[in-house]
Amino acid sequence: MTFELSREHEEFRRVVREFAESEIAPHAARWDREHHFPTDVVQQMGKLGLMGLTAPEEYGGAGDDGDFTSLCVAIEELGRVDQSMGITLEAAVGLGINPILTYGNAEQKQRWLPDLVAGQTLAGFGLTEAGAGSDAGATRTRAELVDGAWVVNGEKQFITNSGSDLTSCVTVTARTGVSTAPTGEERAEISAFVVPADAPGFTAEPAYDKLGWHASDTHPITLEDVHLPEGNLLGERGRGYAQFLATLDDGRIAIAALAVGCIQACLEMSLQYAGERQTFGVPIGRKQGVAFQIADLEVMAQASRLLVYRAAATKDAMRDGGGPTPAELKQAASVAKLYATESAVTATRVATQVFGGYGFMEEYPVTRFYRDAKVLEIGEGTSEVQRMLIARGLGLPVE
Ligand SMILES: Cc1cc2nc3c(=O)[nH]c(=O)nc-3n(C[C@H](O)[C@H](O)[C@H](O)COP(=O)(O)OP(=O)(O)OC[C@H]3O[C@@H](n4cnc5c(N)ncnc54)[C@H](O)[C@@H]3O)c2cc1C
Repeated sequence: MTFELSREHEEFRRVVREFAESEIAPHAARWDREHHFPTDVVQQMGKLGLMGLTAPEEYGGAGDDGDFTSLCVAIEELGRVDQSMGITLEAAVGLGINPILTYGNAEQKQRWLPDLVAGQTLAGFGLTEAGAGSDAGATRTRAELVDGAWVVNGEKQFITNSGSDLTSCVTVTARTGVSTAPTGEERAEISAFVVPADAPGFTAEPAYDKLGWHASDTHPITLEDVHLPEGNLLGERGRGYAQFLATLDDGRIAIAALAVGCIQACLEMSLQYAGERQTFGVPIGRKQGVAFQIADLEVMAQASRLLVYRAAATKDAMRDGGGPTPAELKQAASVAKLYATESAVTATRVATQVFGGYGFMEEYPVTRFYRDAKVLEIGEGTSEVQRMLIARGLGLPVE
């Protein structure tokens, strides 16, 4: 038994690292400052095959040469130099391609996937609304079947990759009626739809002014009498909420990989600075007060990475028709997400402290990582939601 990645995965890591260091790292500070979403680099990521790592060959994906673990390695490596590009890949695959690949019918896959997999277009994932975040089942967006067309009305918020020049569609959840549970209780019937970005009535509102992830594309979405053919229903009617929650299980592993990239960056930046910066005539790394904090960063990086790779391996084993159950995947994903993202926030605080006053100045990337890290504890289910899911997985009757 070994806890190492395969030689192929490590070779793949080297390729992505080279790309990240040559095409992204030199520009990341400027993109952040100018809130610039670099469409050309996103398309290059597609050409490198990063969007197709979990897709079958028939849609231009890597087929058996790729897996979810490779995706996590790629997100980690992009995130090590730029969290914005890391989340762009994470959302492109985990939230954009994944629901269409998993729940789409042959026609939907053929229509949307080839361009998404090639990285020439992007898809958003529209679950969250003003009154439906952690409580995503409280969606108010509605879809009504009128004369053979779905008419969708509502508003989604905080949607990644939803308003870029590359955005071709957004999948959304909407109420399509009322269903009766086996207990007799009535609840909202929620279905999922693919909404083309050029559909009349679809508007990506102006981008948010965010604390971090400045080079990532995030918008509110308005859906006003959007008419969709019946064929735009994604998956089974009434199963949309369940499909979106299952999509988030995968997404949580991928966002945890982004957190690992953040911790690794903090470790490397702190290590280098501690060797260079002198106080009292010696490098600060000679002081236990600094060195021990950097030792803690190494522990955070290793522990988080192991949890992410274990969760990714669980996902890959399921794709191969192996043993793990969806409940085991959910638990592994939440454990990895919770630990890695909270560690990332701690790691950026530690790294900023190691840099002293320079840690507060935008001339060092550590500042950008500090701003970027916080959202890791919020997106794709907050830390509190992860604790709730983990506790439930342990059998506790948590509300
Ligand atoms: C930059 C960014 C990008 C995003 N991208 C997307 C995207 O692409 N698609 C998408 O659909 N969404 C996206 N989101 C939305 C994100 O998933 C939600 O913000 C998140 O799920 C939290 O929902 P909320 O903001 O409504 O907070 P709320 O649900 O209102 O939570 C507020 C606070 O209450 C706590 N809380 C809520 N319920 C409970 C409970 N039962 N027990 C304990 N504590 C609780 C929360 O943990 C949090 O601390 C994005 C968010 C951001 C910031």
